[in-house]
Amino acid sequence: MQELRITAAALSAPDPLPRLCARHGEAAETWRAVTFGSRLPWWGRLVVVLGFMTVTTALRRHRLHVPAWPFCRRCVRRRRVTAGLAVALGLGWLIASTAVAVGYGVGTVVGVLGLCSGIMLTRSVTVIMLFPADWSAIVGGVVTADGEELSVPRAADAFANALPGSR
Ligand SMILES: [Zn+2]
Repeated sequence: MQELRITAAALSAPDPLPRLCARHGEAAETWRAVTFGSRLPWWGRLVVVLGFMTVTTALRRHRLHVPAWPFCRRCVRRRRVTAGLAVALGLGWLIASTAVAVGYGVGTVVGVLGLCSGIMLTRSVTVIMLFPADWSAIVGGVVTADGEELSVPRAADAFANALPGSR
Protein backbone atom coordinates (compact mmCIF):
# COMPACT_ATOMS: atom_id res chain seq x y z
CA MET A 1 0.00 0.00 0.00
CA GLN A 2 1.37 3.36 -0.98
CA GLU A 3 0.23 6.71 -2.23
CA LEU A 4 0.35 6.69 -5.97
CA ARG A 5 0.43 9.81 -8.10
CA ILE A 6 -0.47 9.67 -11.77
CA THR A 7 -0.22 12.80 -13.86
CA ALA A 8 -3.21 13.97 -15.88
CA ALA A 9 -0.99 13.86 -18.97
CA ALA A 10 -0.13 10.20 -18.33
CA LEU A 11 -3.81 9.38 -17.85
CA SER A 12 -4.73 10.91 -21.18
CA ALA A 13 -2.42 8.51 -23.02
CA PRO A 14 -4.14 5.64 -24.83
CA ASP A 15 -4.47 2.59 -22.56
CA PRO A 16 -2.50 4.18 -19.68
CA LEU A 17 -3.32 1.73 -16.89
CA PRO A 18 -2.28 -1.83 -16.04
CA ARG A 19 -4.97 -4.50 -16.29
CA LEU A 20 -5.03 -4.72 -12.51
CA CYS A 21 -7.21 -3.28 -9.77
CA ALA A 22 -5.61 -0.20 -8.21
CA ARG A 23 -6.98 -0.97 -4.75
CA HIS A 24 -6.55 -4.72 -4.50
CA GLY A 25 -3.91 -5.51 -7.11
CA GLU A 26 -6.09 -8.30 -8.48
CA ALA A 27 -6.83 -8.95 -12.16
CA ALA A 28 -9.36 -6.46 -13.48
CA GLU A 29 -12.63 -7.86 -14.68
CA THR A 30 -14.46 -4.72 -15.67
CA TRP A 31 -13.57 -1.25 -16.90
CA ARG A 32 -15.65 1.80 -16.08
CA ALA A 33 -15.59 5.46 -16.99
CA VAL A 34 -14.69 7.33 -13.80
CA THR A 35 -14.64 11.04 -13.08
CA PHE A 36 -12.32 11.88 -10.22
CA GLY A 37 -12.62 15.21 -8.44
CA SER A 38 -10.54 17.33 -6.11
CA ARG A 39 -11.60 17.51 -2.47
CA LEU A 40 -14.84 19.25 -1.65
CA PRO A 41 -14.66 22.53 0.27
CA TRP A 42 -16.17 22.22 3.78
CA TRP A 43 -19.38 23.94 2.69
CA GLY A 44 -19.56 21.48 -0.18
CA ARG A 45 -19.97 18.72 2.40
CA LEU A 46 -22.90 20.65 3.82
CA VAL A 47 -24.52 20.67 0.39
CA VAL A 48 -24.06 16.90 0.29
CA VAL A 49 -25.67 16.49 3.71
CA LEU A 50 -28.64 18.51 2.49
CA GLY A 51 -29.02 15.95 -0.24
CA PHE A 52 -27.96 17.73 -3.38
CA MET A 53 -25.36 15.34 -4.71
CA THR A 54 -25.68 16.38 -8.35
CA VAL A 55 -24.40 19.85 -7.51
CA THR A 56 -21.33 18.59 -5.72
CA THR A 57 -19.67 17.45 -8.94
CA ALA A 58 -19.77 21.06 -10.07
CA LEU A 59 -18.34 22.17 -6.70
CA ARG A 60 -15.12 20.25 -7.20
CA ARG A 61 -12.55 22.62 -8.62
CA HIS A 62 -10.71 20.05 -10.66
CA ARG A 63 -12.00 16.97 -12.38
CA LEU A 64 -10.25 14.22 -14.25
CA HIS A 65 -12.16 11.89 -16.50
CA VAL A 66 -10.73 8.45 -17.17
CA PRO A 67 -12.69 6.57 -19.86
CA ALA A 68 -11.68 3.08 -18.74
CA TRP A 69 -10.53 2.48 -15.17
CA PRO A 70 -9.91 -1.19 -14.18
CA PHE A 71 -11.89 -2.76 -11.34
CA CYS A 72 -11.64 -6.23 -9.83
CA ARG A 73 -14.40 -8.49 -8.57
CA ARG A 74 -14.03 -7.21 -4.99
CA CYS A 75 -14.58 -3.62 -6.12
CA VAL A 76 -17.69 -4.57 -8.08
CA ARG A 77 -19.08 -6.42 -5.04
CA ARG A 78 -18.26 -3.53 -2.74
CA ARG A 79 -20.10 -1.12 -5.00
CA ARG A 80 -23.12 -3.40 -5.24
CA VAL A 81 -23.31 -3.89 -1.45
CA THR A 82 -22.84 -0.19 -0.65
CA ALA A 83 -25.38 0.97 -3.24
CA GLY A 84 -27.86 -1.70 -2.13
CA LEU A 85 -27.44 -0.66 1.49
CA ALA A 86 -28.04 2.99 0.55
CA VAL A 87 -31.27 2.18 -1.26
CA ALA A 88 -32.44 -0.18 1.51
CA LEU A 89 -31.70 2.38 4.21
CA GLY A 90 -33.41 5.14 2.25
CA LEU A 91 -36.49 2.99 1.68
CA GLY A 92 -36.55 1.88 5.31
CA TRP A 93 -36.37 5.47 6.45
CA LEU A 94 -39.17 6.48 4.10
CA ILE A 95 -41.43 3.63 5.25
CA ALA A 96 -40.71 4.37 8.92
CA SER A 97 -41.45 8.10 8.57
CA THR A 98 -44.61 7.39 6.57
CA ALA A 99 -45.75 4.98 9.27
CA VAL A 100 -45.13 7.59 11.97
CA ALA A 101 -46.98 10.25 9.95
CA VAL A 102 -49.93 7.92 9.35
CA GLY A 103 -49.89 7.04 13.05
CA TYR A 104 -50.29 10.70 13.96
CA GLY A 105 -52.87 11.17 11.23
CA VAL A 106 -51.92 12.44 7.78
CA GLY A 107 -54.30 15.38 8.16
CA THR A 108 -52.60 16.67 11.32
CA VAL A 109 -49.75 19.18 11.39
CA VAL A 110 -47.42 16.65 13.02
CA GLY A 111 -48.35 14.10 10.38
CA VAL A 112 -47.67 16.46 7.46
CA LEU A 113 -44.42 17.75 8.97
CA GLY A 114 -43.34 14.22 9.76
CA LEU A 115 -43.98 13.08 6.22
CA CYS A 116 -42.18 16.07 4.65
CA SER A 117 -39.12 15.79 6.90
CA GLY A 118 -39.18 12.04 6.37
CA ILE A 119 -38.97 12.45 2.60
CA MET A 120 -36.21 15.07 2.87
CA LEU A 121 -34.21 12.97 5.31
CA THR A 122 -34.66 9.93 3.10
CA ARG A 123 -33.08 11.87 0.28
CA SER A 124 -30.15 12.98 2.45
CA VAL A 125 -29.57 9.53 3.88
CA THR A 126 -29.61 7.90 0.45
CA VAL A 127 -27.31 10.51 -1.06
CA ILE A 128 -24.80 10.29 1.80
CA MET A 129 -24.86 6.52 1.64
CA LEU A 130 -24.44 6.55 -2.14
CA PHE A 131 -21.24 8.58 -1.89
CA PRO A 132 -18.98 5.64 -0.99
CA ALA A 133 -20.63 3.64 -3.79
CA ASP A 134 -19.32 6.02 -6.44
CA TRP A 135 -16.65 4.43 -8.64
CA SER A 136 -14.17 7.19 -7.78
CA ALA A 137 -14.74 6.50 -4.07
CA ILE A 138 -14.20 2.77 -4.64
CA VAL A 139 -10.79 3.66 -6.11
CA GLY A 140 -10.25 6.27 -3.40
CA GLY A 141 -8.71 8.58 -6.00
CA VAL A 142 -8.61 12.34 -5.52
CA VAL A 143 -7.41 15.02 -7.92
CA THR A 144 -4.61 17.09 -6.35
CA ALA A 145 -5.23 20.75 -5.47
CA ASP A 146 -3.40 21.97 -8.59
CA GLY A 147 -5.46 19.65 -10.79
CA GLU A 148 -2.31 18.19 -12.34
CA GLU A 149 -2.30 14.75 -10.76
CA LEU A 150 -4.54 11.97 -9.55
CA SER A 151 -3.65 10.75 -6.08
CA VAL A 152 -4.56 7.21 -5.05
CA PRO A 153 -3.71 7.13 -1.31
CA ARG A 154 -3.94 3.38 -0.83
CA ALA A 155 -2.80 1.91 -4.10
CA ALA A 156 -1.94 -1.79 -4.32
CA ASP A 157 1.77 -2.46 -4.81
CA ALA A 158 1.13 -4.71 -7.81
CA PHE A 159 -0.75 -1.91 -9.55
CA ALA A 160 1.88 0.70 -8.71
CA ASN A 161 4.71 -1.51 -9.92
CA ALA A 162 2.93 -2.29 -13.17
CA LEU A 163 2.23 1.35 -13.90
CA PRO A 164 4.73 2.80 -16.38
CA GLY A 165 6.43 6.00 -15.22
CA SER A 166 4.81 6.03 -11.76
CA ARG A 167 6.46 7.61 -8.80
ZN1 LIG B 1 -10.50 -4.08 -6.54
